[in-house]
Amino acid sequence: MSKLDSLFSSELAAADDRRVRRRLRTASAAPPGRIVLNGAPVLNFSSNDYLGLSKHPLLIERAREWAARHGAGAQASRLVCGNLDLHEQVEAKLARLKGTEAALLLASGWQANAAVLPALLRAAAARGEVELYADKLNHASLHHGCQAAGVKQIRFRHNDLDHLERLLAARAETGLDKPVTRFIVTESVFSMDGDRTDVARLAALADRYQAFVYLDEAHATGVLGPGGMGLAGLAPGHIDLAMGTFSKALGGFGAYVAGSRALCDYLINTCSGFIYTTALPPAVLGAMDAALDLVPTLDAERARLEAAGDYLRAALQALGLDTGASSTQIVPAIVGDEGRALAMAADLERRGLLAVAIRPPTVPAGTSRLRVTLSAAHRDTDVEQLIAGFAAALA
Ligand code: PMP
Repeated sequence: MSKLDSLFSSELAAADDRRVRRRLRTASAAPPGRIVLNGAPVLNFSSNDYLGLSKHPLLIERAREWAARHGAGAQASRLVCGNLDLHEQVEAKLARLKGTEAALLLASGWQANAAVLPALLRAAAARGEVELYADKLNHASLHHGCQAAGVKQIRFRHNDLDHLERLLAARAETGLDKPVTRFIVTESVFSMDGDRTDVARLAALADRYQAFVYLDEAHATGVLGPGGMGLAGLAPGHIDLAMGTFSKALGGFGAYVAGSRALCDYLINTCSGFIYTTALPPAVLGAMDAALDLVPTLDAERARLEAAGDYLRAALQALGLDTGASSTQIVPAIVGDEGRALAMAADLERRGLLAVAIRPPTVPAGTSRLRVTLSAAHRDTDVEQLIAGFAAALA
């Protein structure tokens, strides 16, 4: 026991008493859609590997090839001497697929949101007043980025664009003559609810109130929108910045922002989370590059994923479970109480099914849930087994 432990040992003990202490478990190798956890093989309904690409031979082969050719690391940050031709190749491919002028890679989705938002909001604050509209259930990293910028968030009710419009209109009435920079920060698919933003309406609102849109496409990239490259493509030219990750449907690791060339150049010059960190390594870039080659070819997988989502929602609802506003591959079974969610997840796991319980502070109090995520790697029989597991756990 170190001296430092006295800071938090009572908090950990209290979590133990309430049986809600978080513990890491060890995952060993398993095929896509499956996982071996602490030695026990189970069907995996908790990963974000929505297309099963994390195990795709092309990603693994290109990761290996690029590491063999360029080394294990990039050796430095990008502005020093770590800017490999490989980074630029992936960025150019990404911008082409996103239909934007440019794209910039960042180390992770968390880091992108935590670092890009402060850089943008600083530029806005230098011009005068800033109004920052943020969805109430935005991901922790978006919230962190807004907080780090020190700009007060005007939170709109979750995915409620009527509420957003009322907030915009109320302020616009009183402040139209003042120079104000408005930002709307939201997600295209929400990670814990699996519902999606009406991007066309969001774009129209942003136009009407002259607001910039920062859209987190972490859970849409690879899965939804034109060519599977996210929902920003549904409102071409209207989403000022689309951020997304390679860590979910794209099967690897890392993140991007896509937008104008000037935006990327500005971030290269000012974003601390880009400047002061080592460039992504060749193996990671290889997997990214291969995923970007594959994504446009995976329409059939996306259609299967969509059908599986519809089927699962209907089945869970028939069992009396609340799946909220989900309309994607993320299907929550909202049970409310934290203890009940944990007990139900444990029950499913004894039946060979992993659907991890998500609880506060990740989701609001009273909305604890089992977050089920589907993957194109799941077979129909896997989904049937999950539904049977839920039925047995509820019996
Ligand atoms: N944004 C959203 C909406 C997310 O769900 C996540 C991952 N949970 C992130 C950003 C962070 O991405 P990464 O895992 O690549 O850090």
